[in-house]
Amino acid sequence: MDDLYRDYILDHYKNPRNFGELEGATHRYHDTNPLCGDEITMLLQVGEDGRVNDVHFTGRGCAISQASASILTDEIKGKTLEELRAVDREHVLANLGITISPARVKCALLSLKALKGAAWGLTEWPGEAAKEPAKG
Ligand code: ZN
Repeated sequence: MDDLYRDYILDHYKNPRNFGELEGATHRYHDTNPLCGDEITMLLQVGEDGRVNDVHFTGRGCAISQASASILTDEIKGKTLEELRAVDREHVLANLGITISPARVKCALLSLKALKGAAWGLTEWPGEAAKEPAKG
């Protein structure tokens, strides 16, 4: 793993941005990654104009899952729900700056899954069906 990006992930893990309950949250969704035991609850405060005025998360788990949530919440604050539709699996994986092994992909994507659950009630793993054709 590249040292620079490892430090970046560990920094977000140890000092998560936007961590904790969010008073006045209008959208919330909790999900887990059973493969690793990660948990994320995504909390959004969305205005009448569809803009994410504030976003927090709570959770626990491995460094990749928690750093991914920290980075994601930092990025989406102030955007509209419509703009958030552009945030996809590839985008979240690229944000981490390291190659995520297949075993850890769900760690990295749990925050996006929780965001999609909160924003639109989507409960599928992001992009899984399209990007990972069945083997055999
Ligand atoms: Zn994990």
